Amino acid sequence: MSLSNRYYERPSRFSEAEWNARIDLAAMYRIFAYMKWDEAIYNHISLRVPGEENHFLINPFGLHYSEVTASNLVKVDIDGTIVDHSDWPINPAGFTFHSQIHDKVENGHCVMHVHTTSTLAVCCLEEGLSYSNFYSAQLYNKVAYHEFEGITVHPDEGERILASAGDKPVLMLRNHGPVIIGANLAQAFALMWLVNRACEVQCASMAMGKVREIPEAIVKKCTADSLNFNPKYGAGADVFAAMKRLVEKQDPSYKR
Ligand SMILES: [Zn+2]
Repeated sequence: MSLSNRYYERPSRFSEAEWNARIDLAAMYRIFAYMKWDEAIYNHISLRVPGEENHFLINPFGLHYSEVTASNLVKVDIDGTIVDHSDWPINPAGFTFHSQIHDKVENGHCVMHVHTTSTLAVCCLEEGLSYSNFYSAQLYNKVAYHEFEGITVHPDEGERILASAGDKPVLMLRNHGPVIIGANLAQAFALMWLVNRACEVQCASMAMGKVREIPEAIVKKCTADSLNFNPKYGAGADVFAAMKRLVEKQDPSYKR
């Protein structure tokens, strides 16, 4: 075994399943940084530990996404209490609604939240997401909204966020930013990518003038045809794998 491989060897305190999940989640933080979806040290991607119903992995509070690695991800329980040891705390503001979703949404194993300018800008619009472009046309009946109540540090808002989300995988927190709920990292990433692209195009097109709407029947058809939701075409797994190769080439230290 080469020195560099030994450097990335699984520490014995982690099961193989947990270590693989840690590597994938750390890669996802690096991918978010690459996509410029990071928010200094803020925002979160949380993931259920495989085989551990009430344990979740989340970013260490204080580190940039480019500094997140498999071993410095923090394991917490449903209340956000750190399990075992961590050199870093977590940001309680973020885990408030992540924990509610993980706890109550069936298959809600992965939760992503960003403040990218275009998604947040669309969250500030009275009409919200407009089904007027190639990307948003793939999101028909997948988007819910939640009224702004301030910074999400109060546990009681978690239940209302959950009620607002209903069975939708995309929740636009009004005046704040989107939350994506996925069964796994790849699926959540594919949705986050779609939402970001939809909002970027919406911001650009609305800035130019009157936007041409797409008939509802076509929007429904686009969503049904979307490769992002079709397991036959990867449903996000193929794009996640490609992005993982990209960050691997840039800096493989996420596996540390
Ligand atoms: Zn936020």
